[in-house]
Amino acid sequence: MKIGFIGLGKMGAAICANLLRAGHEVCVWNRTPEKTHLLLKAGVSLAASPRELARRSETVFSMLADDAALDAVLDGEEGLLAGLNAGALHISMSTIAVATAERVAALHAARGQRYLSAPVFGRPDAAAAAKLFVVTAGAAADVQAATPLFEVIGQRTFHVGDKPAHANLVKLCGNFAILSAIETMAEAMTVAEKGGVPRAALLQVLTGTLFDTPVYRNYGAILVEERYRPAGFGAPLGLKDMRLLGQEADTRRVPMPLLSLLRDHLLQTLAQEGEDIDWSGIGRTIAGNAGL
Ligand code: NAP
Repeated sequence: MKIGFIGLGKMGAAICANLLRAGHEVCVWNRTPEKTHLLLKAGVSLAASPRELARRSETVFSMLADDAALDAVLDGEEGLLAGLNAGALHISMSTIAVATAERVAALHAARGQRYLSAPVFGRPDAAAAAKLFVVTAGAAADVQAATPLFEVIGQRTFHVGDKPAHANLVKLCGNFAILSAIETMAEAMTVAEKGGVPRAALLQVLTGTLFDTPVYRNYGAILVEERYRPAGFGAPLGLKDMRLLGQEADTRRVPMPLLSLLRDHLLQTLAQEGEDIDWSGIGRTIAGNAGL
């Protein structure tokens, strides 16, 4: 299939490489052209603009930092909207606002273009290993057409409905649940450590009994080893996701006191540690607040 891929950051580069490896004809565009070099050597072709990329593709993936980045790529004379052929499919994997997904779906529909939201769970190492979990929503026929592509990049796909934005809502709720688990583990490890129990010993009991889940195993190890740099999922992106879920909670009149706490811990971490820390770096802030 002729695939276009926009956004070669930590996640996009790994996903794009897997699509290429599966034998697809892949054309790429990234704001910073230097990041395309490795993939060009591997066999992708380069487009001069999102518009040119779209013209050459049956299906276009985008994996961009945030809502503003997606808008920047979609809009304007050289944008994706201007270039995508009628009937072609845009699969948006970025973690973006529910309202943005609704707006983008409508923009594509008005041009006879197809659109799926397909945000993912899994960090860059999972993306490289094609072990992502894909959460998609949109027309069933489009999901069916995209499923072979999702199978190339992930271990399981969930279809959560025919409204694309529902996938984005699920993704934001999922990230809230992940950060809540990190907060819980970090608080428990801090009190254990101050009481004389090593973090690793606590984690071994948690994951060996009632918390034998990837989020406890993977983030627990990061907290034990204090492996906060280089960031796999940057704290600024985590803050973005808590803000986006907060907007949805405001709109729906849903008090989320835990969300407010998590947002503040991310802010405190960013203020004290800088922008390059992983979102699990809230562990350092929580320990620091306890004098460790
Ligand atoms: P990243 O490494 O920071 O990459 C961000 C990408 O967005 C880069 O290609 C960047 O281009 C592009 N971009 C940013 N602003 C732009 C703009 N104004 N115009 C055009 N392009 C722009 O981020 P990532 O970790 O790959 O995450 C990408 C998305 O996946 C985010 O929505 C994130 O929330 C989500 N996600 C991340 C993870 C994770 O563990 N990292 C897991 C699941 C989902 P440049 O190269 O020019 O900067």
